Amino acid sequence: MSASRKHVIIIGGGLAGLACAVRLHDAGVRPLILEASDAPGGRVRTDAVEGFLLDRGFQVYLDAYPEAGSLLNLGDLDLRAFKSGALFFQNGRLHRVMDVFREPRHLLASALAPVGSISDKLHVALLKWQIGRMDSREIETHENLTTLRYLQDAGFSSAMIDGFFRAFYGGIFLERDLRTSSRMFEFTFKLFSQGHATLPARGMGEIPRQLSARLPADCIRCAAQVAAIQPGAVTLLSGEQLTCDTVVVATDATSAAHLLPGLENPEPAWRSVICLYFSAAHSPIREPIIALNGTGHGLVNHVCVPSDVAPHYAPAGQALISVSVLEQPEGLPKLAGLEAKVREELTAWFGDQVAEWRHLRTQQIKNALPEQAPGSGFTGPGFRDHGGILVCGDHLWSASIEGAIISGSRTAEKILQSS
Ligand SMILES: Cc1cc2nc3c(=O)[nH]c(=O)nc-3n(C[C@H](O)[C@H](O)[C@H](O)COP(=O)(O)OP(=O)(O)OC[C@H]3O[C@@H](n4cnc5c(N)ncnc54)[C@H](O)[C@@H]3O)c2cc1C
Repeated sequence: MSASRKHVIIIGGGLAGLACAVRLHDAGVRPLILEASDAPGGRVRTDAVEGFLLDRGFQVYLDAYPEAGSLLNLGDLDLRAFKSGALFFQNGRLHRVMDVFREPRHLLASALAPVGSISDKLHVALLKWQIGRMDSREIETHENLTTLRYLQDAGFSSAMIDGFFRAFYGGIFLERDLRTSSRMFEFTFKLFSQGHATLPARGMGEIPRQLSARLPADCIRCAAQVAAIQPGAVTLLSGEQLTCDTVVVATDATSAAHLLPGLENPEPAWRSVICLYFSAAHSPIREPIIALNGTGHGLVNHVCVPSDVAPHYAPAGQALISVSVLEQPEGLPKLAGLEAKVREELTAWFGDQVAEWRHLRTQQIKNALPEQAPGSGFTGPGFRDHGGILVCGDHLWSASIEGAIISGSRTAEKILQSS
């Protein structure tokens, strides 16, 4: 069958589903996305609330993502970059630790910051050089350890691991144990070294919006939850039945396991996060940089002021503050009383101004990132063929925007090759 006559139904309009659909559409295939919620985007969406742009959980786009960069029009996203480095709250105040290769004027402050020893900082430089030279394909072949073990083997001190890596990578992996696969560490470390963490000028939701706009309007059906599938046929929760040549399941890992009994991982584990948004008359940080908890205790992992990075995130004359709280060993903190505890903790970071902040919204995101234990991800084709039904999503490559887009794009390639 020629590609243009092929009819493909894609279940799920997150970035994997959208990437798959755009690649197919560009090759002349007419896909149909069935999305359960009210709009495409999946885990990458932005809500406009009282003139503020609230991303659903703090996330960043790394402008060195290769596959996402080849699919998206980054110029139109108008990416705004964070500074390369971070502020660490330790010993009662914020200390600056910068990437001194890009911000050499901060060499002295970074060297003197009590976050790791001089030897640790030299180890960071060495790792940057070693990982920077690696091809992404090489990372896929590396021994798969926990990130903690990898950092210990690389010679970092406990103080550096506890004060720096647990906070910085806690914000990326959404866990502070550093149990995530060392391949994920190498992948993100390389991309942070090569480029910048950024926010699209008008919110992370612009990423799926841009991809959706490349598809004809009738290629995406929202509020269309799929209840059952078989090769070549899909049944919606409403009872409506649709037929096609190929079914692609581009949902999150848990929904895929429900739709496809017998899938390898029937009970996928997730990492969760709570994001609290506040507005203020002034930014407590006043520069595009992330602030991290380097104390090793407390609820808050990181604080960011998106409006310092991209001014459209807040109405003129106001600041938007995002605070991320990770799961604790005993589980995700209870929402009751959380705002008060977060304010109390952040008063030590920023002083009495915290009392003036206005609470806008608290988002609890239970299924934020699929667990990425050593041995998972960065291997195989990036999608799965489950008895003629193709499965894609971030859980099949890496828990990231890049991972979802790689997985969706490779699924489209597979369909086009077999046309
Ligand atoms: C708080 C948070 C922080 C993050 N930080 C970063 C970051 O800084 N950088 C980064 O690169 N990545 C980050 N990520 C990860 C990134 O957002 C995800 O890896 C990526 O968006 C996953 O895309 P996906 O298409 O695989 O899955 P999803 O986005 O989950 O999309 C799946 C879609 O399928 C739909 N669906 C499910 N079941 C059905 C059904 N039965 N019928 C129809 N539709 C269905 C869902 O509604 C959803 O829209 C973060 C994620 C979160 C939540």
